[in-house]
Amino acid sequence: MPRKKKLLWQIYPSYILITLLALLAVTWYASRSLRQFYFKQTAADLGSRAHLIENQLRKQLPSTKTDTLDLLCKQLGKSSSTRITVILPSGKVIGDSEEASARMDNHADRPEVISALAGNIGTAVRFSHTLQKNMMYVAIPIKSSGEFIGVLRTSIPVTSIDMALEDIHIKIVMGGVLIAVLVAMISLIISRRLSYPLEEMKQGAERFADGDLKHKLAVPNSQEMGALAESMNKMAAQLDERIKTIVEQRNEQEAVFSSMIEGVLAVDAKERLIMLNQAAAKQLGISLTESQGKSIQEVMRNTELQRIITQTLSGDTPVESELVLYSNGGERFLQANGTSLKDAQGQNIGAVLVLNDVTRIRRLENIRRDFVANVSHELKTPITGIKLSVDTILEGAVDNHEETIKFLQIISRQADRLNAIIEDLLTLSRIEQEAERAEITLGRHRIKDVLGAAAQTCEVKAKDKKINIELNCQGDIKAKINPPLLEQAVINLVDNAIKYSEPESMIQVMGAQTDTEVTIQVKDHGCGIAEEHLPRLFERFYLVDKARSRKLGGTGLGLAIVKHIAQAHKGKVSVESTPGEGSTFFIYLPLA
Ligand code: ADP
Repeated sequence: MPRKKKLLWQIYPSYILITLLALLAVTWYASRSLRQFYFKQTAADLGSRAHLIENQLRKQLPSTKTDTLDLLCKQLGKSSSTRITVILPSGKVIGDSEEASARMDNHADRPEVISALAGNIGTAVRFSHTLQKNMMYVAIPIKSSGEFIGVLRTSIPVTSIDMALEDIHIKIVMGGVLIAVLVAMISLIISRRLSYPLEEMKQGAERFADGDLKHKLAVPNSQEMGALAESMNKMAAQLDERIKTIVEQRNEQEAVFSSMIEGVLAVDAKERLIMLNQAAAKQLGISLTESQGKSIQEVMRNTELQRIITQTLSGDTPVESELVLYSNGGERFLQANGTSLKDAQGQNIGAVLVLNDVTRIRRLENIRRDFVANVSHELKTPITGIKLSVDTILEGAVDNHEETIKFLQIISRQADRLNAIIEDLLTLSRIEQEAERAEITLGRHRIKDVLGAAAQTCEVKAKDKKINIELNCQGDIKAKINPPLLEQAVINLVDNAIKYSEPESMIQVMGAQTDTEVTIQVKDHGCGIAEEHLPRLFERFYLVDKARSRKLGGTGLGLAIVKHIAQAHKGKVSVESTPGEGSTFFIYLPLA
């Protein structure tokens, strides 16, 4: 781009040029008029002198005494500072104030003489060969009784006119230069005054461009500039207002997007990520800042995600699908809803994807499915037992009293088992429901009382196996609990400990307190549990040794109940066990 000239340097030279041209034109015209006027004046002057001398000369003409005439011419010429020449109609010069007339050539061909002989006043400016200078000639006819008797010519050197004119020229030029300097100064001031507010406005506009829209331009006095400055100030204020609105809207939008639980991402028609919220970045395991503007393939390799986006971009109908992502935390399920983005003309310009994390729902569905399968299976075993026993009795065993008793005992045991399972299931669902509806009332109670009551309940069973239950808890330990529920949990643990311990062993029930929680421990020296079972031990219907547990009357729901009771107290459960040495079960209850 060519370097731009300052406005001052665009206005100023043209001012000077116009002034100089005007001065030149005026000078040229003035000096021309002056010269013409001066010539006219001089010609008139020479004419009057000629008329004055004419009378004196007429008396001598026509005369042959040229000497006298010549002398007279010389006298008159000297006194009037004019060259005087007398010429006969034939063109012969008979008198001249400067030269010897005899030596002068015939003057009949001189234009002023020709004009005078025709009866007019002849005027001419010409180089005189006789005097070797530029001369002005004025010739008048001399008449005597209506006849031309000669021509009287007066002349002066033009150099004197030129000198006078030159003097005037010098004065005009000097005046012109003075005016030019004055005009230059004035025009510089005017140009400055014109360009200064513009310069100020330019700086103001630059501040606007830099984003300082709060800046106000000074309003110049001139109408146009003032209006311009006011319009620019108005424009800046409006722009500021609009930008503010846009920023506010964008902030609101961002706040909404970033606080959404659903992941939202938008891609343009070329499948480049144009928007992504925090939730989407987290769900997809990608960086929020680094992914913007990149193509979706670059950011994440997932064929299903790719397919949803392509399908949404190419069609008009919303697309719904489920994504399965594998991360170190295991499988995660995302439900994706894709809708195409359209511009004002209805053209597809991109796609928006809303992602819902349905991992928990899928897991719960799985748990429920497993639970139903487990319940059915657990119920089926005793029912099959009962059915088989009844069938056997019906098929003939009824005749055999002992057999009948044996099968009826089986039926009774299986019915007890059914009852136990249903009882446990009901307990579980009651605890769950009450915990969900926050119906479980908690109060500060002594832990020792609860542990004591549980131990007492299990006392008879323990005695049967000659097992000793040792209680170890300080009386002042208190926690926010629901005593009957907690007692049920401890009973379950102690009951298990008795079931899986050898006779004549010892079970310890302990209560302790730390800064943050109360810990209840039930420790036995029984068979213990292999490590691989520990993570799933608290699941419903999870049995380590099915045959043995069932024989002992276990339903696989006891520990699940313990876990739910702990959760209803906002607490946790855990287990430590070494096969062959024994197990310790813990219930942690928060103090606060
Ligand atoms: P159950 O009603 O059959 O006892 P639980 O949920 O209470 O069911 O226990 C689940 C499984 O954990 C039992 O089948 C058993 O194998 C094991 N278990 C529970 N407590 C103990 C314990 N104190 N020692 C050894 N194994 C245990």
